[in-house]
Amino acid sequence: MDILLMGPPGAGKGTQGVLLAGRLGIPKVATGDLLRDAVKNATPLGLKAKAVMESGALVSDEIIMGIVGEELAKPSCARGVIFDGVVRTIPQAEGVAALLAGIGRKIDMVIFFDVTDQEILGRLEKRRTIEGRADDDPAAVQRRLVAYREQTAPVLAWYEARGGVTRIPAVGTVDGIAGQVRDAVGR
Ligand code: ADP
Repeated sequence: MDILLMGPPGAGKGTQGVLLAGRLGIPKVATGDLLRDAVKNATPLGLKAKAVMESGALVSDEIIMGIVGEELAKPSCARGVIFDGVVRTIPQAEGVAALLAGIGRKIDMVIFFDVTDQEILGRLEKRRTIEGRADDDPAAVQRRLVAYREQTAPVLAWYEARGGVTRIPAVGTVDGIAGQVRDAVGR
């Protein structure tokens, strides 16, 4: 089963993705985590992505599709994956659909975590004090929200037109939201 998690930065995709991946026994493909690892290890990919990520802008579709292609080719991903933060532009939506079609698969479910901007700003500020992520500083957060509104929000309509989107109001406790995800997925 291939499931796509969508939502603004700080919506809780990462947290819920880990829980869902554990329940389904399939891996999570989180481009943000993979990029942060690359930056930490100063790989050629990391050196290319670092400044863009820190500014809060989106990394190029070409780089993202390269990462996703590499992940999907791994044996561990053969039974499906949870896409976390991957599809952020229409070209990425098309690219992922094409990659999956090539291996006889498709996105089976899109889950959208719905939260207000005000809630997000509060959460990211809190995360900055805990994790110290460079892109959680106020200017970068603003840029990430703009990138989300301009480039990622239109992707929802793309999926609405092709099979639908399950919306979950992502406010409340982690357990409460996990329960709603479980009900939506059936597991
Ligand atoms: P969040 O969802 O909290 O914004 P992520 O960890 O998913 O955080 O992403 C952090 C940063 O990594 C993004 O702001 C962007 O620069 C880059 N990134 C991650 N995934 C993608 C993607 N699919 N397309 C473009 N850029 C991405």
